[in-house]
Amino acid sequence: MSTARRDALLAWYDANRRPLPWRQTRDPYAVLVSEVMAQQTQIVRVVPHYERFLALFPTPESLARAPLAEVLAAWSGLGYNRRARFLHDAAAHVVQHGWPTTSEELQALPGVGAYTAAAVASIAFGEAVPAVDTNAKRVLSRWEATPLEGTRLAEAAAAALDGDRPADWNQAMMDLGARVCMPKPDCDSCPVTDWCADASVYSAPARQARFSGSTRQARGAVVRALVHGNSASHAALAKQTGLATTRLREALEALESDGLVERSGRRWQLPAAAGRISGGTTPGSS
Ligand code: SF4
Repeated sequence: MSTARRDALLAWYDANRRPLPWRQTRDPYAVLVSEVMAQQTQIVRVVPHYERFLALFPTPESLARAPLAEVLAAWSGLGYNRRARFLHDAAAHVVQHGWPTTSEELQALPGVGAYTAAAVASIAFGEAVPAVDTNAKRVLSRWEATPLEGTRLAEAAAAALDGDRPADWNQAMMDLGARVCMPKPDCDSCPVTDWCADASVYSAPARQARFSGSTRQARGAVVRALVHGNSASHAALAKQTGLATTRLREALEALESDGLVERSGRRWQLPAAAGRISGGTTPGSS
């Protein structure tokens, strides 16, 4: 890996980094919240949700104590509500066991995969580990002039990493992939164009899954309908969401199996149970 390329990318990042609120902190909780929110949601949409969420739940303890319904209400508008439940469960795990501090151990937290674990470990704990998302994969593949997967991708990411500044390196790769080395790259503005082998790798526009008519849309509509109310019958939900009977039933079954809604007689509601932590006790204690 060219040291010159590393220096060029970090110098570009130092001068152009996006002023995102979670870049002002090394608090693992704040970093984890930002990374979980940024999974499948555009950064520009994450910022206001992140600030509101941390104002409501500033610590893992406060999040773990909150009822899941409150957490889902705070998550409203971000979509993919399972992430809120994972975060709620992860907070309970941290309160009970303390913070895992390595990328490997962080993967034991609910909803935390290799990428999120590496991002949190490098940013909060300074571990020299590359965080490889689809953006980093595209950039690395272009540097190597071939679509990288699996072991070859991991090796290229590890070789490229700046071990002295792993947090900045990972965020620089994220910014480069999001703003310059996009599916249609802007090579004229690229700080590392001199060290890039083939801009045509992964040059096809990313295909966006259709949202309208999807199960994800139906699930989101149901959660939104329940967030501010108490409980609702199937008929009331059908009226509120505009979903046909079959789609509504499928959405409710999927949400119920993910623990995001529950049935009480013939009515549906968000989980009414108290938070995973209450009154200073830990999960499993009574
Ligand atoms: S030169 Fe073009 S393809 Fe290569 S890293 Fe820069 S933006 Fe991406």
